Amino acid sequence: MERAETEWELASVQAVAYEVYHLQSILPVLKQKDWPVCVVQKRCLFPSGEIAGCAVPGAAFVFASKANGGVLWVVEERDKTGWWSPDDAEAERILRRQGQDVNPESVRAVQEEKRFRRWETRRVKAARTALASPYLSAYVAAHEVGHVVRFGFFSDSDLREYLKLRGLEGAERKSRFDDPEEIFAEDFRWLFGSKRANQVEYRPSCPEPGDRERVWIIEKIKIPRS
Ligand SMILES: [Zn+2]
Repeated sequence: MERAETEWELASVQAVAYEVYHLQSILPVLKQKDWPVCVVQKRCLFPSGEIAGCAVPGAAFVFASKANGGVLWVVEERDKTGWWSPDDAEAERILRRQGQDVNPESVRAVQEEKRFRRWETRRVKAARTALASPYLSAYVAAHEVGHVVRFGFFSDSDLREYLKLRGLEGAERKSRFDDPEEIFAEDFRWLFGSKRANQVEYRPSCPEPGDRERVWIIEKIKIPRS
C-alpha cells in the first residue's frame, strides 16, 4: 500500500455507495448479504503493477489509483434545442407527399434544404471529458461486486456452464480480462452496473453479454447454493 500523491487519486466514496445501492435495487438478493465494499484511501501496488480494486469471498475493495486523477470521455444523453433537419423517415415522407422519387440523393437534398428545418428539442448523445474518479470508482465497485457474487453464488462448474453459455469454452485468451473470472466480473458489471459504471468500455476481447446472460445469472442467484 502506498499513500496517494494527491486527493484526485482517491476513489469516490459517494460513487461507490451509489453503485452498491444501485446493484441492490437491481438484484435485491444482495441486500441479504453482509458483503462490505471497502473504499481504501491508499494505492495498492503489486509486482504486476497498480490495481484499482480487488475482491475476496465476502468482501470487495476499491483503492485509490493514479488513473482516478486523469480524465475520461463520458457519453451522455441531453436535450438539444435548435433548427433540426428532417431525419430519414421525415425526409421520405416529404418526398412522397411531393410525389418525388425516394432515393439516397433525394433524401439528402431534402435534408440540406433550409425550409424543411424545424425548431425542435431532440435527445442527443454528447461526449465530454470528465474527471475519472467517480466513473472509475463506480466501474471498479460493480466489477469487484461481480467477483464477490461469483464467489458467493456460483460454483466452479457453474462458471464453466456460464462460459459455455457465452460460447467461450476453450476460447483463446488475448488479455488478462479474458480470464473466466474476469469475464464473469465484467459481464456482471456490464449487465447490472449503473450508467456511470458502464462509461468504462467492456474490457474482455469477446462480445458484450446480453439478455440471455442476464436471465441466466438472475435465475442462478435466486437458488441458494447448497
Ligand atoms: Zn477483476
